[in-house]
Amino acid sequence: MPQRDFTDPSADSLKVIKLDDAAQYFEDAGILPLEVTTMLVKEASYTRPSDPRYLSPSKIYPPNLCRRQIVLDSFLTYDLNPYKAWQRKEGSLWHSAFATAKAGPDWLHEVRLPDDLILADDDGRLKALAPPDCEFEDWMFTDRADELFDQGVLKTCDDGRIRLEVCPGLWMRGFVDRLSADYKKIVDHKTKAPPFSRPPDYIPKNTYDTETRDEAAYQLSAYAHMVEMCTGVANEGMWIWRFFRGCKRPEQAWRKMQVRLISRDRIWEDIKDYISPLLGWLSACYDIQQSHLANDSDPIEAIKKYIADNIPQDGHLQQMFNGQKCTKFCEHYEVCFGLETGFIDF
Ligand code: SF4
Repeated sequence: MPQRDFTDPSADSLKVIKLDDAAQYFEDAGILPLEVTTMLVKEASYTRPSDPRYLSPSKIYPPNLCRRQIVLDSFLTYDLNPYKAWQRKEGSLWHSAFATAKAGPDWLHEVRLPDDLILADDDGRLKALAPPDCEFEDWMFTDRADELFDQGVLKTCDDGRIRLEVCPGLWMRGFVDRLSADYKKIVDHKTKAPPFSRPPDYIPKNTYDTETRDEAAYQLSAYAHMVEMCTGVANEGMWIWRFFRGCKRPEQAWRKMQVRLISRDRIWEDIKDYISPLLGWLSACYDIQQSHLANDSDPIEAIKKYIADNIPQDGHLQQMFNGQKCTKFCEHYEVCFGLETGFIDF
């Protein structure tokens, strides 16, 4: 599987720094502190592409998902820009910081869906927990999860985790930051770079912003549908708390935004149309890889050709992440565009 090294972000042309040398190199070059690189190296060493059959609600929004990037991630070696690796890590560190403080008994925190809503009953059958304020006593079971298990819509997957099938062959599981104890409200925390593009005199009209973001709407709606499918409790409100990392203007650092509920049919249908072709592409590349390895030959050229011939450049065609160009965020940019021109070698 792909082994990642780092690139030197200060070099004019591509310069690869081996993982073992990166901490001292970036310290000496004044790029990142030794401790930070050591942490990033540890994570880069353990990064493996996830099983494409298993989806997370945070990665199902088509305009933010380049399918070619996923295939490249799975089959080709690539190197990380340490600044971008740190940016991602910074987001997840803030996220963990939020998770350590609890918001009181009305909220459940870091809820794994659907796992945390499901327990085995005395007969060993898996059933969904009814919300604590249901008309029965606490921790009563509903029959819905039973039915979903019987229909094969819920199942315990190969890795031992429970997932919900969203279209044939694709299974979803996710973490929601806050779920109200009655299962009716959802709050998620999001971090982002500060709004540098806003004019210096910009002042938010109020702290409660009803602006809707589709990416968050997709993710939170998927959580809401998973909760309803397992427990029967319909969602009554969803919000994100957005924190702008490093924002120098206190009045702009935190924003609460209401998120609209997108219908289950629409999200599940989008997953089917947009994400399910990935399974075919990944398995075709896997077959190419295995048949070459069985003959002791290098599969890279054949995989390159398959990718160039079959897999669209979604990131380029769709102008992902609110119109950002691929160069701004994709570690595979040179390889991906090299496939189109044939100039870049692996
Ligand atoms: S460079 Fe753009 S099109 Fe190519 S893999 Fe990356 S995001 Fe996708």
